[in-house]
Formats: sequence, C-alpha cells, structure tokens
Amino acid sequence: MRAIAVVEPATAEVMAEVERVGEVDVDAAVERARAAYPAWRAVSPEDRSALLHDLADALSGRGEELARLEARNAGKPISDARGEMAMVAECFRYYAGAPQRLLGDTIPVSGGVDMTFREPLGVVGMIVPWNFPLVISSWKVAPALAAANTIVLKPAELTPLTALELEKVAVEAGLPEGVLNVVAGPGSVCGRRLVEHPDVAKIAFTGSTEVGAGIAQGAARTIKRVTLELGGKSANVVFADADLEAAAAAAPSGVFGNAGQDCCARSRILVERSALDEFMGHFETAVKAMRVGDPLADETEMGPLISAGQRESVGAYLDDDSPVAFRGSAPEGPGFWFAPTVLCPVSNQDRQAREEIFGPIASVIPFEGEAEAVAIANDTPYGLSGSVWTRDGARALRMSRAIETGVLSINSNASVRVSTPFGGFKQSGVGRELGPHALDHYTEVKNVYFATEEG
Ligand code: NAD
Repeated sequence: MRAIAVVEPATAEVMAEVERVGEVDVDAAVERARAAYPAWRAVSPEDRSALLHDLADALSGRGEELARLEARNAGKPISDARGEMAMVAECFRYYAGAPQRLLGDTIPVSGGVDMTFREPLGVVGMIVPWNFPLVISSWKVAPALAAANTIVLKPAELTPLTALELEKVAVEAGLPEGVLNVVAGPGSVCGRRLVEHPDVAKIAFTGSTEVGAGIAQGAARTIKRVTLELGGKSANVVFADADLEAAAAAAPSGVFGNAGQDCCARSRILVERSALDEFMGHFETAVKAMRVGDPLADETEMGPLISAGQRESVGAYLDDDSPVAFRGSAPEGPGFWFAPTVLCPVSNQDRQAREEIFGPIASVIPFEGEAEAVAIANDTPYGLSGSVWTRDGARALRMSRAIETGVLSINSNASVRVSTPFGGFKQSGVGRELGPHALDHYTEVKNVYFATEEG
C-alpha cells in the first residue's frame, strides 16, 4: 500500500497509516460523485433534511471519539477538540433546515410570470488545511449537501483521520454511496487534479493565500466557481478606556489558541500607548499561567505545533534582535513544542507584523488615538478577523466600520458561529462560509420566464 504515515505532534510518533491516493483515485472519486448526483438531486427536500439531521445525530454520538482522534492528530487541546466536534454536529443540524428554505423570488414582469430557483452546482471539490480539519470540512460539506451537491473532499496530508471517519459515519447514517467521497493524498497531486478536473463545478478551498492564488488560477481554465478562505494577520485593538483586565485575559486565547495556527489569530495586538504598561502587566500574568502540554489532558490550553517543519518556520521569526517581552512555558521534547512568545514594541513594518507566522508569536504594537489604530489595523494585505476593546460605544461602531475585515468582535475574541457569515476581505479570501450566506456559494440562480398572455 502507498501509505501516508500520520504523526502525532505531541510525541513525534506515527499514530496511523492511511492509503495515499493519487490522480487516478481522484478521477474515480469524481466519477462516483458525478454518478451519484442525479439521484441525490432528486431526493425530496424533506428527506434530505432528515438525512442531515441523522448525520448530525450520528456525529454527536461519536463526538468524544472524534474529539480524541482530532486532538491526537492535530495536537490540539482535548477541550478545544470537544468544542469543535460539537460545532461539527451543530453545523449539520443548522443546514438540515436549509433544503426546505432554498427560496427563490417571483419578479413582476409584463406578459407573464418570472421566477428564480436555486439550483445545485453538481460535483464540488473541497480542499482543507490541517489546523481545524473536521470543523472546516463541516462548514463546506453541510451546506453543499443541503443544496443537493455531491462532494469530493481532500483533507490535508498531515491530518486525514477525522475526514476519513466522516465519510464512514455519513454512509452509516444513510447518505447514499458516492455522495461524499474523501481522498487523502498530497495537495500537489490530488488537490491539483481536483482543481483541473472538467467534471468538478466548484472548488471550496481553505488554506494559505499562496496556494489559494494558484487554485484561483487553475480553476479559471474551466471557469470553476471558487471560494477561498485564506490567511490572516488580524488586529486586536485595545483602547485605554477598555476593561484592560478583560482584554488581557482574552488576548492569549485570541492569539495562542490552536498554538497560534489559526487563520483568525489576532497576532497584532495594538495597544493605546497610555495603557501599554498596565495591559502588558496583566497580559504577562495571563500568558505565564497558560497550561501548555499534553493535548489529551483536560486542563491543557495549548498543545504542540503540527510538525517539525512548522516549528522551524515559526522559530525563524525570532533572532537575537527580537524584542522578546516575555514567554510562557513549553514541555521539553519529544513533540513539536514552542513556548508562547510576546514581542514588544514591534513596528507594523517589521516582518513579524507583516507575515502570517502561524505559530505562538504575538507582536504588540503601541499606537496613539483612533486614527492611527485604524491606519495600522488596515496596513496589511489581509482582512480576516479582529477585535476592538473599548467602553465607548460610538467608537466601537466607528472602528467596526473602518477596519477592513470580514469578521470583527467588540470586547470579545469570538470569530465563528454556525449561524453567522465568516470570510475574508482583501487577500484573506473570496466568499463566505456559515450562516445563510454559505448557501449562495453552493447554488446557481436560475431565472425562468413563463409567458401567460393569450394570443
Ligand atoms: P496549505 O495552503 O499549505 O494547504 C491547504 C490544503 O491545500 C491542503 O489540503 C493541501 O494539501 C492543499 N494543497 C497544497 N498545494 C496544493 C495545490 N498545488 N493544489 C491544490 N491543493 C493544494 O495550508 P495549510 O498549511 O494546510 O494551512 C494553513 C493555512 O491555512 C494558513 O495560511 C491559514 O491562515 C489558512 N487557513 C485559513 C482559514 C480561513 O478560514 N480563512 C482557516 C484555516 C486555515
């Protein structure tokens, strides 16, 4: 068997081997999805809804087992993995309500009746990253199924295990064979083939901006629909009038959650200069109290990085001149550990503030006043998430409108909810996932004119 050795990041040991599929397997999966499409499309909205509810129930029932698998494979704290698995089931439950609500319009016209329908696209190819493997898959799979598409899903090579389980659970829950097909193989082979395949109508991609740009280019050849959820370099803006203790208590999970391997990581912490010392005092206490260690321990708040390569690339952002203000703890090896690290003061022109590090390094950037905060927050090619901390409601609203980002939270570091739209401005992506908005990206609008005038 051509195998992918799946490594557990906390121990650096192989935890499983899965079959490494290639181009011909992708073609076969697309063919299965294509063959399954007419019958899946013909399933009544009520039955499609019932199937998605059954799948949500089955995923809930397997929640703890899937959470442990994800925690081990992605190196994420089990408490986070449990939250993600709850969101996976919730996502299928939310979109189980969609088949009967894919509404069209009737439009006043002369001479007849005009109406619109939301039609499925056909076979959708999905390519997902390793940082939130199953939860990001569910954001794509659930709305695509609700809209009657069939699917070929390619997980990241480092984390294929929960996606392969999803395929099994879906069939056990009654999803017809061929509707959801998982292909675990390298992006440069299997991902690329999905992008170029003439029978794939759309690519839904989450990953780096660099790979996303190549996918947009490749998809253009066959005019595929494309949604892209890409990188970020989000700002966490703390004004002096904020509840500084609350802002500092939330900052560690905002930037070091998932060991900083989070597209929504608020990795630029902008602090109004007059509050800098007080904020940094509270922040240091919070970072040093973080429990970094065994992903399977209930109390763990941060695990290891995903791989030795990732640890090396994150480490390259620190050198003897880096303004390290303080660091948290990390276990000794084996495993790909990296202590949470806070740099201060950082200029927004420094490479640590410009590039997506994708690891537990935070840059604190002092500012003076609202206008400078907006200018710094927007001086980045990205625009995915962010937070603003202030007790001034009018300022909170002004900042909400001025910051160029797809998702913003006030006095909170929450980024995603199943019922609200998620996606990026600028080079953070194209399209929206979650909420009712995702359904627009898994359907085409068809307009039908019906002449009714006699003679
Ligand atoms: P990546 O871009 O390296 O890989 C993502 C996926 O693309 C993987 O499945 C990979 O196998 C595949 N791939 C790689 N090369 C390909 C090619 N040439 N053609 C087709 N597919 C290819 O990203 P990653 O390292 O797995 O994940 C980290 C990145 O993902 C970060 O930049 C992060 O910000 C981003 N991300 C974004 C979001 C979001 O919702 N905006 C969420 C999570 C992660």
